[in-house]
Amino acid sequence: MPWLLVELLTAGLAAWLWGQLSRIRRNVRHLLQQGKVNEVSDGLPVVRATLQDLHQLEVRLREIGRQATEEDFSLRAILSSMVEGVMILDRQFRIRLLNQRLQDMFMLPRPPVGRTVMEVFRNHFLYQVIERTLQSGSAQSAELQIELREADRFTTRHFQVTSVGLRPGQEGGFDGILLVFHDISQIRSLEAVRKEFVANVSHELRTPLSILSGYLETLLEAEVDPETTRRFLETMYRHAKRLNALLENLLLLSQLESGRLPLHVTRIAAGEFCERALERFEPVIAGAGVAVTVSVPEGLSFDTDALRLEQALSNLIDNALKYGLKPGLHLCLAAELDGSDVVLRISDNGPGIPLRDQPHIFERFYRVHKDRSRDAGGTGLGLSIVKHTMQLLGGSVSVESSPGQGATFILRFPRGF
Ligand code: ADP
Repeated sequence: MPWLLVELLTAGLAAWLWGQLSRIRRNVRHLLQQGKVNEVSDGLPVVRATLQDLHQLEVRLREIGRQATEEDFSLRAILSSMVEGVMILDRQFRIRLLNQRLQDMFMLPRPPVGRTVMEVFRNHFLYQVIERTLQSGSAQSAELQIELREADRFTTRHFQVTSVGLRPGQEGGFDGILLVFHDISQIRSLEAVRKEFVANVSHELRTPLSILSGYLETLLEAEVDPETTRRFLETMYRHAKRLNALLENLLLLSQLESGRLPLHVTRIAAGEFCERALERFEPVIAGAGVAVTVSVPEGLSFDTDALRLEQALSNLIDNALKYGLKPGLHLCLAAELDGSDVVLRISDNGPGIPLRDQPHIFERFYRVHKDRSRDAGGTGLGLSIVKHTMQLLGGSVSVESSPGQGATFILRFPRGF
């Protein structure tokens, strides 16, 4: 039987015996007071000695009870303060004890004490780990992947489980099993993100590089007329520029994510700031006849890093012109105060963004139309840079778009830094 149960039982037994002894002692004292002892025994000293013995026994039992309660209390305090989930099973794999953390990890509505580990966890690998511990007699460790139902959907959680035999029995077996669960889901999900990122970067780099080397090979090995050579060089230049943009964006993103980018906060006049951000795009705006509206309350100013905010705003204007470009494109920049926040809206009346893509567009390398983005020179990192820039500035970015009716990107940041 697990030692914890023994201790609990000792405490219970001690309390019960103490109650019984008190009753006997009360009865003997009553007999003494009433002078009835002489009728049953003429040895008054014997009765007195018995009474004293009873008293000592009572004191001793009370002490044992207190110790057991204290030990139980310390054990519970340790178990409940642990970040790991802890569970103790008996030889029949029935759960004898588990801490609150384990109950929370597996979202168990109530402590499943008395039920078997298979009934509660329904995981064959967990069962195997426990069996291996009993068979081998040594501690076992394994990684478990468990599907847990959170609200109305299933999520995959990863646990590192260590299983140890408790108190070797006489025939070499164990009295029970101690299991310790460590939630490593976050580590695994970070690893998955890193792998996906490396795969994406390799893919993005490989495409322009293979185009460049293909054209170079043709130019070196074949007789190419000047007209075709010029076309080839133009294509190569476009891809080299994209490669450069990709590397620059990657570098910027990694600096933003590290949070080590120094900020230079200055007072900015909102109207001037919007006009200045639009200047860079003047050739495209004028060339395509884009209608531009800037709507900023008179005298609105705020404190932030102008360079960073302009970078974010430029990415959004660039996207609106890239993806919304059509006759009659209307681009609107509007700023307003909302409490202590400044809200800057960048709207276009382009094709908008499908609802299913909207939750993902701020992820690295996510594009709604891969080819359209690449043709337009996009790296798939623009919105991710906007998101991280706004976080660095203590703000946020969000999108509102009804497909077919344009898109509005909303930058929100504190007016004072
Ligand atoms: P990219 O380098 O491809 O432009 P972004 O991260 O800037 O990458 O944008 C992600 C995707 O979001 C784009 O590929 C595009 O499909 C979509 N998108 C962004 N802005 C707009 C917009 N104003 N209108 C329509 N689609 C947009």
